[in-house]
Amino acid sequence: MAGDAVAEVKSRLDLVEVIGGYVTLHRAGRELTGLCPFHAEKTPSFAVNPERQVWFCHGCGKGGDLFHFIQQIERIDFREALEMLADRAGVELESGPRSDRGAGRKRRRSIELNAKAQAYYQHVLWATDAGERGRALLIDRRIDEALARRFGVGFAPAGGAGEDALTRYLTGKAGAGVDEVVEAGLAHPPGRGRTRDRFRDRLVFPIRDDRGEVLGFGARALGDARPKYLNSPDSAAYHKSSAIFGIDLARTAIVAKHAAVIVEGYFDVIAAHAAGVEHTVASSGTALTREQVHSLGRIAETLILCFDGDEAGRVAATRAVDVIAVESIQARICRLPAAFKDPDELVRSDPAAFAQAIEEAPPAWQVLLDAALGAGEGGSVDARRAAAERAVSVLARIPEATTRELYLQQAARRLDIGARSLSTDLAHSMRDGTRRPGRIVVAAPADTTPDTADESEAVEADEPMPPWEAQLARVVLIRPEMAAALRSESGLGPDEFTNPTARRIYDAASSDPGGFTLRRLSGGDQRRAAGLLVREVPEFADEAEPQAIKQLMADCVRLIHEESVRRALVSISTEMHRARDEGRTEDADALAAKLSRLAADAPHLRRTLAVR
Ligand SMILES: [Zn+2]
Repeated sequence: MAGDAVAEVKSRLDLVEVIGGYVTLHRAGRELTGLCPFHAEKTPSFAVNPERQVWFCHGCGKGGDLFHFIQQIERIDFREALEMLADRAGVELESGPRSDRGAGRKRRRSIELNAKAQAYYQHVLWATDAGERGRALLIDRRIDEALARRFGVGFAPAGGAGEDALTRYLTGKAGAGVDEVVEAGLAHPPGRGRTRDRFRDRLVFPIRDDRGEVLGFGARALGDARPKYLNSPDSAAYHKSSAIFGIDLARTAIVAKHAAVIVEGYFDVIAAHAAGVEHTVASSGTALTREQVHSLGRIAETLILCFDGDEAGRVAATRAVDVIAVESIQARICRLPAAFKDPDELVRSDPAAFAQAIEEAPPAWQVLLDAALGAGEGGSVDARRAAAERAVSVLARIPEATTRELYLQQAARRLDIGARSLSTDLAHSMRDGTRRPGRIVVAAPADTTPDTADESEAVEADEPMPPWEAQLARVVLIRPEMAAALRSESGLGPDEFTNPTARRIYDAASSDPGGFTLRRLSGGDQRRAAGLLVREVPEFADEAEPQAIKQLMADCVRLIHEESVRRALVSISTEMHRARDEGRTEDADALAAKLSRLAADAPHLRRTLAVR
């Protein structure tokens, strides 16, 4: 049913047209490219292949079909995407026109349950013995009860033997279903018959929207428990890339000051408010994202970054500057006195000094340029040349020409070199910026954590894919109907692939003739498959020439097979030598026999054997 609807919707809508509503696309050969809407960038790495109706970003690795795009750009689930696109395509879904209320109802329910959880956590913190350790941590951080209550801080208890105190409370008194508690991100899905609370033995900070509705939580471990911070998973209500901690309490001050202070941690936000710097917020569980910058940019003209003083904080700030620059908002960087590692520490020692540091925060480009010039100023010729290179890489990141020119003049003056030559270097750098490995932090992906749907991917990083495996995977993706015949005729087994994604693509396509689509693959594989599909295969340029495709397939099969035999030979040979070294003569002889049988079938691999 859903499958039919998907095919029907796809046949009526053009991917290019739909994406064109969100991204400005330019034609580049048979592909269309544009700036990726999912990560900050200045040179286009987002590609759409109109023929195959797939899209892929070479920068952040996202990709897929029409539905994936809408799901990700609108931050909705598959069902909602289907409803939205069906509506646009004029396809009526059988479940009826009212079903679009479903998503709204889910969101409402998540917020209700998260609000109940907040009340419960607060009760545990302030009125029970279980909350004692949480109260101790707050005292340690010099956060009094009134301040903690303003932020809704609470304590998630260990939860007893079942580790499910909150779940029992919500499903009991509050009348919620277990599935609702799971959907609200408050409990892990039931595994082996029981449901455990997501947050246990942690201080919890509600993450609310600007109207104060509780979308989710950030939770800090006590002592040395890992992970130190844990967040709600993305849900109907909570999206980590758009949630902003403290926005409900900071909004009025941000509007009044036309500026927002962005810090890294929950304690930093609370400390800043305690010091009277009430326009302070934090991103939660991610690096600062473009969405967060965008929504802050609607009420603030300037964003002041006040990150931790360590290397990680400096890198995060540098990256945040690029994200902010893309949104054409002014960025400032607050430098903490060296003795303090984060805003929280400074506030506890000297609240007025913190407020003043924020007030005096210099423009971000100035801070980055100062760091780049470093020892170059008044230094040797070599030091000045090195500094000039670093300065150029900072200048190249400034989007507005006037600002860039002003900092260029300043850099030239401070290094005592001609502005003309610096300007020439800058022009070079900007022209081939993306190809220069020396260039620092070019709009790195703002959101480096995988989507919830792709959580399995965090475990399996993209492994290298040998070109012949990539080529064959691409061919069976384009022509899945040829895959089954290829497999039975060539005898090429999935196990012969080294790359797991290529193996699964080949296996799925060849065992499912006719019915294979991208959607049969898991989330991570779907994206990687889109990456393969978006590229042109020259052999397919002339579809009337099937011989070229057959030849291509035969070549790939041969290479994959040879490689797999080579690996087997190496492994047997290694095993044989070990047996010999260990005096297991019989084993060694058996392995030697096996080796020569295999080698007889693979004359081209004699060299591999001789080497061993
Ligand atoms: Zn991207």
